[in-house]
Amino acid sequence: MQKILNFIGGEMREPVSGRYFETDDPSVGAPYALVPDSGAEDLELAVTAAKKAFPAWRDMPAAERAKALHKLADLIDRNKDAFARAECIDNGRPVAGCAAVNIARGSANLRFFADEAVTFTGEKFKTDKIESYTLPQPLGVVATISPWNLPMLLFTWKFAPALAAGNCVIAKPSEVTPMTACMLAGLANEAGIPAGVLNVLHGKGANIGAEMTAHPDIPAISFTGGTATGKTIYASAAQQLKKVSLELGGKNPTIVFDDADLNKAVEGAITAGFSNQGQICLCGSRLLVQEAIYEDFKKAFVARAKEIKIGDPLLAETQHGPMVSKTHMEKVLGYIDLAQKEGGKILTGGRRYIVDGRCKDGWFIAPTIIEGLPMTCRTNQEEIFGPVVTIMPFKTEEEAVALANNVEYGLAASVWTQDRVKADRVAAHIESGIVWQNCWNMRDLHTPFGGVKKSGVGREGGRRALEFFTEEKTVSRCI
Ligand code: NAD
Repeated sequence: MQKILNFIGGEMREPVSGRYFETDDPSVGAPYALVPDSGAEDLELAVTAAKKAFPAWRDMPAAERAKALHKLADLIDRNKDAFARAECIDNGRPVAGCAAVNIARGSANLRFFADEAVTFTGEKFKTDKIESYTLPQPLGVVATISPWNLPMLLFTWKFAPALAAGNCVIAKPSEVTPMTACMLAGLANEAGIPAGVLNVLHGKGANIGAEMTAHPDIPAISFTGGTATGKTIYASAAQQLKKVSLELGGKNPTIVFDDADLNKAVEGAITAGFSNQGQICLCGSRLLVQEAIYEDFKKAFVARAKEIKIGDPLLAETQHGPMVSKTHMEKVLGYIDLAQKEGGKILTGGRRYIVDGRCKDGWFIAPTIIEGLPMTCRTNQEEIFGPVVTIMPFKTEEEAVALANNVEYGLAASVWTQDRVKADRVAAHIESGIVWQNCWNMRDLHTPFGGVKKSGVGREGGRRALEFFTEEKTVSRCI
C-alpha cells in the first residue's frame, strides 16, 4: 500500500495521531493507498508554520511569487505522465482525460494566477478635496477545501490565487482522491516555495475539514464541493465572520432548439452529459429538446451514447471509466432505480457495467438516458452526479426557460440554436451563473465562475479570485 503524507512547513509528515484510512482504486474496486486521518494537532502545526512564513511571502514582490508558481507549473508539466496515471488510478477518469484536462489545467491554473497577480493593483479616486487609493492586501493564512471529481484541477484552482495574492495556504484535497495533491506538495520545495507557504493536510471532512473552518486564525475558506457541505461550512464560518467562497452542486440544463445544428448539438449534449462519467458540477444532466426535432435528436443521442468506449481507464482509447467510489456508484444506481419508480423509461444504460479482465470488480455504470419524467420529480430535481441524463421535449422558448429554471440549483446551462438573438434572450432569462451558447464548458479563466441559488456563494476566476483572497484598504488624503 502506498502511504500518503501531510505536507507541513516544507516537510512530509505523518499525522500526529498516527491514524490512517484506506483509499480505493475504483477501476479495480480495491484499496490501494493509506490516507492520514488528520486532526486538530496537525492543523495547529500547519497554522503555526503558515503564520511564520506569511510576512516574508506577503512582502515578496508579486513577480517573485509568480516565479515560484511558474516553477511549480513547470515541474507538474515535466512529470505530467506520472501525474495523469496517478490521477487516473485515484479517481477513475480515463488517463487521456486526466492528462488533457485535470493535469494540464493544474499547471495552467498556477501560471494563470501567477501572472494575474502581477498586474493586480488597487484603484485611485479623486474629488476636488480628497485623493485616495486602495491597497489590496492578503488575508494571512487561508484554507482551501476541494472535492474528488477533478482533483488536481480544483486543488490548484483554489490555492493558486491565494498564494499568488500573498497568502499562506492550508489546502485540503478530498479524502477520496488525495494522491496528486500529495505528489504536488512533494514538488513545492524544488519550486522554491518557502517552507510554510503551502501546507497540505489530508483527512476526512468531518474531522480536519471542520477543524479548518472553525480555526480562529484562518479568516477565509474557499470551498468547492456539495451543497449540503457548503451549508455546514457557511454556518461554521459565520461564527467568526470568515470570508467564504462556496462553489457547490448543479443540475444543469442543456436546451436544444429546433433550429440548432443537429450534429453539433448531439455531440455537445454527449460531452456535457457524460464527460468524466457525468461527475462534473457543470454536466448537463437535464436535456430539453424542442418537439419538432425531439424524436430525431433522441435517436441520434442514444446511438451516440452507446458508442462511448467504457473500459480500463489506464488504456489510452478508453473514454468512460468507473464511478469514483463504491458508495458513489451505489448512490447513482439508487437514483436510476428511483427514476424507474417515478415512471422513467431507460433508453440506454441503467445498470452496473462489468468490464472484463483487470477491471472486472470496478465500479462502472454505462451512460444512461431516461425519458418520460416530469421536471418536478426527484430524479430531475436532485444532483445525481453520474452518467445519467434525462431527456424531455418542450414546445416554446418560454416553456424551455421555465423548465430549465424549475430547480433549486443554478450553476450552468448550455443553449443550442443558430438564432443569436434567441440565444442571448434565453441566456438573459436562465437562472445560472454561466450560460454556454452552442458549446459546453469552454473556459476563459479570466471570466467569473460561480453559481446562483443553491449552487454557490460568490465568484471565482480571474480578478474575482484575487479579490476574494485580499482585503482592500482605502488610503485618503486632503489635497
Ligand atoms: P463534498 O462536499 O462531500 O466534499 C468536498 C470537500 O469538503 C472534501 O474535501 C471533503 O472532505 C470536505 N468536507 C466534507 N465535509 C466537511 C465539513 N463538515 N467541513 C469541512 N470540509 C468538509 O463533495 P464531493 O462529494 O467531494 O464533490 C462533489 C460535489 O462537488 C458535487 O456536489 C459537485 O457538484 C460539487 N462540485 C462543485 C463545483 C463547482 O465549481 N461549483 C466543482 C466541482 C464539484
